[in-house]
Amino acid sequence: MPESPSSKGSLAERSAVVASLERASRVCGGGFEGRKREACSDRCRAALSQRRQTEARAKRDRENRATLEAIGWLARVALARMDTQPETRLD
Ligand SMILES: [Zn+2]
Repeated sequence: MPESPSSKGSLAERSAVVASLERASRVCGGGFEGRKREACSDRCRAALSQRRQTEARAKRDRENRATLEAIGWLARVALARMDTQPETRLD
């Protein structure tokens, strides 16, 4: 690597590079050369893609769950308010 670590690139960018390299080498357990390719073969690339989809789905599920929990909380608060407020009757 020609650049020193502190010269260029944010920490996040460098971590992303490191993470992608780690992920690729974990696909088949073997090392591979080349910085641009993420996996050593079509099979490993497919495995990577599959893993990304699984992670993306898990992330979506977490977000949906958080949203639904927020809605549930709001509903409980609204119901509690209805229960505690005396109804105004017009009869
Ligand atoms: Zn591989």
